Amino acid sequence: MTSYKELGLVNTREMFAKAVAGGYAIPAFNFNTLEQMQAIVQAAVETKSPVIMQVSKGARNYANGTILRYMAQGAVEYAKELGCENPQIVLHLDHGDSFELCKECIDNGFSSVMIDGSHLPYEENIALTKKVVEYAHQFDVTVEAELGVLAGVEDEVSSEVSHYTKPEEVVDFSTRSGCDSLAISIGTSHGAYKFTPEQCTRDPKTGKLVPPPLAFDILQDIESRLPGFPIVLHGSSSVPQDEVDTINANGGKLPDAVGIPEEQLREASKSAVCKINIDSDSRLAMTAAIRKHFNEKPGDFDPRQYLKPARENMKKMYIHKIVEVLGSNDKL
Ligand SMILES: [Zn+2]
Repeated sequence: MTSYKELGLVNTREMFAKAVAGGYAIPAFNFNTLEQMQAIVQAAVETKSPVIMQVSKGARNYANGTILRYMAQGAVEYAKELGCENPQIVLHLDHGDSFELCKECIDNGFSSVMIDGSHLPYEENIALTKKVVEYAHQFDVTVEAELGVLAGVEDEVSSEVSHYTKPEEVVDFSTRSGCDSLAISIGTSHGAYKFTPEQCTRDPKTGKLVPPPLAFDILQDIESRLPGFPIVLHGSSSVPQDEVDTINANGGKLPDAVGIPEEQLREASKSAVCKINIDSDSRLAMTAAIRKHFNEKPGDFDPRQYLKPARENMKKMYIHKIVEVLGSNDKL
């Protein structure tokens, strides 16, 4: 058993309470490479932001769970080396799909886990979440649950259609399951293709797709029933069009990729939404920089030559999200 406290990590409890009270949201960035980790830590330290570094099942399969845990410990030490005296870094399991997986992560230094029972019948979702909560709370690890289903594809998680969270269920669910935060479905979606062109309208000036707006009425309803309770949004990348354009201009093929407009995420951050998950935007920033680099310098073959601009581009994106969208800067 390795406690996250030994690694210098923190759970989400105090962080979320401050974020809800302060009207901002904590960035939850997925990572599975060294360069993503470095970029996340540099961005968080430079902006004085708390940060959640999260790992999906797919990331664990790719990078190895033990390595990722040591990378999170490395992230804490790196933040201190960069001058941050008291880094607020969470290591979070994204989309845990079983009690066993959550337990394994809790036993191995994660400070927060998500148990995603959203695909299960309501009572089974409560029972599974409660089981994870009872285990996690013994070690002061916080638990995120999910109610409602997001559309889109994320590692092993995928659904063709979304089901909005039913506000009338949230009080019963959170009370009986004991979860510390709740991921809800209000129209965000996983992946870089969040909406089909048919679901969108086209901006007549730019020809770009404009996605349907998030269901803020549902969010407000949930907030009024669960005042101050931490709400989480998954699938909240914005799919920046300049990155998509760079990818497409340098040999890529991402037609009509579309995300959640940043104005809407900015608005959500001011509400009880206190954790916003961003994964695809980091993938796009990395790929755009690498494609551009190879197009301009086809003779390069040292990975450091193209991973350095990739890391810089991700860092720029993370700082932009923290300062311009979520408002979590200057909170340490
Ligand atoms: Zn998700």
